[in-house]
Amino acid sequence: MRALGFYAGMLGIGSALLGQDASATLLLLLAFTCLGWPVLAWRLSNATADPLKAEFRNLTIDTGLAGFWIAMAQFDLLPSALLASVMAMDRTVAGGWPLTRRSMGVMVLVALVTAAFNGFAFQPHSSFATMLWCLPFLMLYLLAVGASTRMFADNVRAQKRALEQGSRIDAQTGLATRPQWLALVGAELRRFQRYGAVSSLLMVDIDRFKRINDSAGHLAGDQVIHEVCAILREGLRSADTAGRYGGDEFGVLLPGTERQAAREVAERLRRAVATQVAVGGEPVTLSIGVAELGQGMESIEDWTGAADEALYRAKDAGRDCVCD
Ligand code: GH3
Ligand code: MG
Repeated sequence: MRALGFYAGMLGIGSALLGQDASATLLLLLAFTCLGWPVLAWRLSNATADPLKAEFRNLTIDTGLAGFWIAMAQFDLLPSALLASVMAMDRTVAGGWPLTRRSMGVMVLVALVTAAFNGFAFQPHSSFATMLWCLPFLMLYLLAVGASTRMFADNVRAQKRALEQGSRIDAQTGLATRPQWLALVGAELRRFQRYGAVSSLLMVDIDRFKRINDSAGHLAGDQVIHEVCAILREGLRSADTAGRYGGDEFGVLLPGTERQAAREVAERLRRAVATQVAVGGEPVTLSIGVAELGQGMESIEDWTGAADEALYRAKDAGRDCVCD
C-alpha cells in the first residue's frame, strides 16, 4: 500500500512541480524519494526485531515526506489534499486517533518548515493536467483500500469460524465440547418439557484411568482416550451426540431413546471398548450410568445428575458395567 501510494501520489505532485517549472534536480529528488522510500521502509521494518514498532515509525516518516512535497508543490490543491487525506485515513486505520494526531502534526510541521525555506510559495490552483495525473492515485488507491479491507474482513471471518469450531469441538477427541454438549442436552430437555419426547443420557467414565497414566504413561493414556472416543463417535447413530464431559468422562445424548434401548447402546459401547482397547494386554473398561428423562427433571443438572448417580452406582458395583 505504501508503494502504491507513493508511486501514484508522485504523479500528481510531479505534475504540479512541472507546471511550476521546478528544477530537474527537484523532480529527480521526487522520483528518488517516492520510488526509494517504500523499498527502504520495507527493508527497515523487516530488519528489526520489532517490525510493528518500525512500521509505526515508518508511518510517521511517510507523513513527514508528504508534508515536504506538499510544501514543495506550493500547496497545489488537488494533489496536496489527496495526499493529506489518504495519509490521515491510513493512520486512522493503522493506529487510531493517537497515530493520526502525531503523524498529521509531523506533516503540518514539516510542511511549514519547508514552506519557510521555500519563501512561503503558495500556488493552490490545480491545472487540468494535474487533475488528470491525480486520477490514478484516487482510483487505484481507493480500489486497493477496498480490496485490502475485504481481505482483512475475510480473515477475521475465517478466524471467527475457527474459534467457533474450537468452542464446539474438543480438539483432542473430536467430540462436542462440554458447553456445546450441554447446550444440546438443554434443547432436548426443552423438547421433552414441551412435547413429552423421551430421551436418555449416558455418562461414560474410563475405569482406573489414573492407573493407566501412572503405569503406561500419559501418552498411552491419551491413546486410550483417542480409541475410546473413536468407538463413541462411530458406535452411535447420527442423531446421537457424544461430548467430552471431563478428562476421562464422556456424555452421550440419545434423543428419542427410552431407558431400555439406552441401556443396550451403553452395553454395546462397553463391550466394544473392553474387546478393542487394551493397555499392556489389560483390557480397558468403562462404567456407564444411564438416565432417561422423566417427570420432575426441571433442569439440565437434574438430568445429568441422575446419569452421574447411575455412573457412581456402576463404579460401586465393581466397575466395567452399566447401571440406571
Ligand atoms: P475411576 O475408575 O474411579 O474413574 O478412576 P480413575 O482413575 O479413572 O478416576 P479419576 O477421575 O480419579 O482419574 C482420571 C484421570 O484422568 C485424572 C487425570 O489426570 C487424567 N486425565 C484427564 N484428562 C486426560 C487426558 O486428556 N490425557 C491423559 N493421559 N490423562 C488425562
Ligand atoms: Mg475414570
